[in-house]
Amino acid sequence: MTEDIRKRMFHEMQQKTAFDDARSAAYAYADAALERNVFPTPQALDNLAHFDEPLPDEPGDARQILQQLDRYGSPATVAQIGGRYFGLVNGGVIPATLAVRWLTDFWDQNTPLYLSSPVASSLEEITEGWLRGLFGLPDSTVAGFVSGSSLSIFCGLAAARQRNFERLGWDINRKGFIDAPRLRVVASQQAHGTVSKAIALLGFGIDNVEWVPADDQGRIETAAVPDLDGSTILVLQAGNVNSGAFDDFETLGRRAREARAWVHVDGAFGLWTAAAAELRHLTRGIELADSWSFDGHKTLNTPYDSGVIMCRDRDALVKALHAAGAYITYSENRDGMLHTPEMSRRSRIFELWAALKYLGKSGIDDLVYGLHLRARQFASELQLKGFEILNDVVFNQVLVACDSDTETVETIKLIQQSGECWVGGTSWQQHSVIRVSVCSWATTEADVTRAVRAFVAAREQVRKN
Ligand SMILES: *Cc1c(COP(=O)(O)O)cnc(C)c1O
Repeated sequence: MTEDIRKRMFHEMQQKTAFDDARSAAYAYADAALERNVFPTPQALDNLAHFDEPLPDEPGDARQILQQLDRYGSPATVAQIGGRYFGLVNGGVIPATLAVRWLTDFWDQNTPLYLSSPVASSLEEITEGWLRGLFGLPDSTVAGFVSGSSLSIFCGLAAARQRNFERLGWDINRKGFIDAPRLRVVASQQAHGTVSKAIALLGFGIDNVEWVPADDQGRIETAAVPDLDGSTILVLQAGNVNSGAFDDFETLGRRAREARAWVHVDGAFGLWTAAAAELRHLTRGIELADSWSFDGHKTLNTPYDSGVIMCRDRDALVKALHAAGAYITYSENRDGMLHTPEMSRRSRIFELWAALKYLGKSGIDDLVYGLHLRARQFASELQLKGFEILNDVVFNQVLVACDSDTETVETIKLIQQSGECWVGGTSWQQHSVIRVSVCSWATTEADVTRAVRAFVAAREQVRKN
């Protein structure tokens, strides 16, 4: 590296003009985010061509780089921090957590070990205890902080694989699957795609799963779950990604404990209902499970990315994810990498800790229950306008149909193009449907009414065409 660019970087750290620019641009973005078009305009998408350039030969200018990114990048974002994005299951962002992110970006902590970041290690441990209390999980439960549920589901099933094989006298880490005794995996046909991915990554094979049918709401058919035993991993769901429905954790949890089967709960967005008094009944019996995966970036509205694995069997989780190296110094304190597949990791704990501390128990309850109220408002306003609601709105998901599949599909397209709000489509009981997910604290009653107007206008246009 030339002396010249090194000098420039010291200068930039001292002058902070690029940081000031970033702050101004971010504030302008935040001011526009509540009112602007949700999906980028065609013009904004065309302007992405401005990034199509060869890798520069020479160093650039920090402020110019930022300016280019703001000018052509900001308009090509999807306005997810506003209140009218209802696609996927995407949370907004709590301002306090953004502020914490800005500060801790300067810290640039790497979090594998206590020795690499005492503050991250301490806050991971504190947050682990808070979450255990919030969800009413067993005292022995530990947490690992990862990028999202894709990875936390993987961790839960890895711990399950470890424990169940160990009971059968098999060290899966050393011996692998060749000549291994057989483990069983039982899951709902409505399990999330990332459950199948974890099953595939862990070598079980998707075709070897005992797939159980789901009922008309998307809950696993409790009576159709086969006999369980100590070699079984049962995957349940707190929050079906389409309907928001919850499995019967109490009945199946009891059966699993008796049989010594491992239960993993995929609670990506739905587990948070355990922290809301009016919705807590949905998660009755979750404490009977062995591992739980969920996100901070969905229901809790932390910035991306933030996922958590919680596991009552620390030994199984650590054995499944442990790594060694002569230079890795484990300590008496918490070493985060023992609970995660990654070694180096960004310090996402600060934002999760801040979200919990900022909201407190009553704020979390308000946030979670508020999403439910807005979803119910959505459903009832749409129904009044002649749309069909296909699911019981038990939490934050609403499945909507027009008069025919074609009308539904065309209506989705026009809603998306309108920029007024954004919803996606899905398939539900062999029909095309509109899928609404209310997941942002920033969604107001007025936002819902405005979105419903966009639904009506889009359907009218389709009927005219
Ligand atoms: C979103 C989601 C996932 C995947 O979570 P990511 O955080 O996107 O990796 C898994 N299961 C369910 C039920 C989900 O809603």
